Amino acid sequence: MKISLRAKLILSYFALTSFTGILIFLLIYLTSDQRLKSLVNQEQQAEIIAEVLSWYQIERSWQGFEEYYANLHPKKPNASKLTERKGKKPPPKSAKVRINQHGILDADKRVLKQFLTFSPGEVPPDVYLTKIIPIEFEGKLIAWFVPKDGKGISLKSEKKIFFEHTNQVLLIAVATALFVAAILGGILAKYLLRPIEALTKASQAMAKGDLQQSVVKTSHDELGELADSFNKMSAELTLADTKRRQMTADIAHDLGTPLQVISGYIEMAQDLNSPLDPSKLAIISTEIGHIKRLLSDLTILSDADKQTLSVICVDISLTGLFTRIERAYQAQCEKAGVTLSTCVELEKDTALLDEERMIQVLSNLVSNALRYSKDGGEILLKVSQESAYLVLEVRDQGAGIQAEHLPFIFDRFYRVSDSRSNESGHMGLGLSITKALVELQGGVISVESGGKGQGCRFQMRFLMFDS
Ligand code: ADP
Repeated sequence: MKISLRAKLILSYFALTSFTGILIFLLIYLTSDQRLKSLVNQEQQAEIIAEVLSWYQIERSWQGFEEYYANLHPKKPNASKLTERKGKKPPPKSAKVRINQHGILDADKRVLKQFLTFSPGEVPPDVYLTKIIPIEFEGKLIAWFVPKDGKGISLKSEKKIFFEHTNQVLLIAVATALFVAAILGGILAKYLLRPIEALTKASQAMAKGDLQQSVVKTSHDELGELADSFNKMSAELTLADTKRRQMTADIAHDLGTPLQVISGYIEMAQDLNSPLDPSKLAIISTEIGHIKRLLSDLTILSDADKQTLSVICVDISLTGLFTRIERAYQAQCEKAGVTLSTCVELEKDTALLDEERMIQVLSNLVSNALRYSKDGGEILLKVSQESAYLVLEVRDQGAGIQAEHLPFIFDRFYRVSDSRSNESGHMGLGLSITKALVELQGGVISVESGGKGQGCRFQMRFLMFDS
């Protein structure tokens, strides 16, 4: 059976109210009996003592008291079986006696009115007289009152009246509480469910493909946090979806451009029915190289995503690493009029890194630095230690990157200037691959730039040393 959250909330209020009502009723029922008995007993006791005093005040003797008392308290039929069980042996002195009838004794403890099995004039044994109360008149002891122990009191009528009244009050209280619970439950359910309804609506829209959803945060409690998390999730999914679409479009474009060039030359050769000359074959070969590089870059990124890209970190020489890079780029730098220098500021030359992956990382950074440097520029490769970190830097004095591009520079297919047609082969994957490779070795990469024409500083930090 499907019960809505609203109904469940209202039902739970109902259940709580009913439970509280029943609990109050039971507590009153179970605890009131004894108190009521003692109250009634005290009341009866005061009444009888007043009667005894009023008799004595007028008569000044006990002559005729029994008759006076019998008139005041006519015996109910079947009232006290004990009074009829005459001749019964008195209990031993040590026995605990249950007294379920008031007794009145004169100053010498002689019975003044029939009391249990004792007739007027008899003196009951002490065991019956443990709780007797003196009755005094004008400072003189005139009689004793033997109180009931209360256990024999029948509260039927008093209890009935009391419970009838209590039940009525409880019933009114529970009915009012149920009414209030229904109204409050309704209001609270509406207030609580409003953000949940908004979230349900928004997530249903997301399930249909409309990822850009935002719900209003109406409170600062757990529901508010849920709304915040939902909005964040929606924003991230939207961003991821936009990037995925952009990436598909970029891949299609970057594969399409070289394929167009290649198919153009092949069609030309077919039309002319003549073989392609070596220069055209070289262009085709370059374009094929671009396709291969794109596929290889995509494979690296996909392996990094699947976490199947392996790194083997062993102690490598950082001077050796820089020397390999210098050798690879020296000629190109000289040709471009750029100085490539290295700086190793370390006590120990070795670090736990994957040499081939680091060559790939530094090659990406140095080739970018070279591409964006002008004649006369400088590129510096530096390694140093900053507390527990090994810090590798690639600095250049080239074109720089404007602040608005910096947050996206490591994103896949992100290029600062849309120079796709001119810069075939540079598809904006180099820095995202670099970042993946650095992270795979436990490092982080960041970039700083003073802006256009101010050069760039790429910095990689690896936690290596004991701080
Ligand atoms: P690509 O492989 O197309 O060069 P990258 O991911 O390596 O792509 O770089 C992304 C963008 O970052 C480039 O389009 C370029 O605009 C910018 N960039 C990277 N390195 C530098 C640098 N050293 N100086 C200036 N801009 C740079």
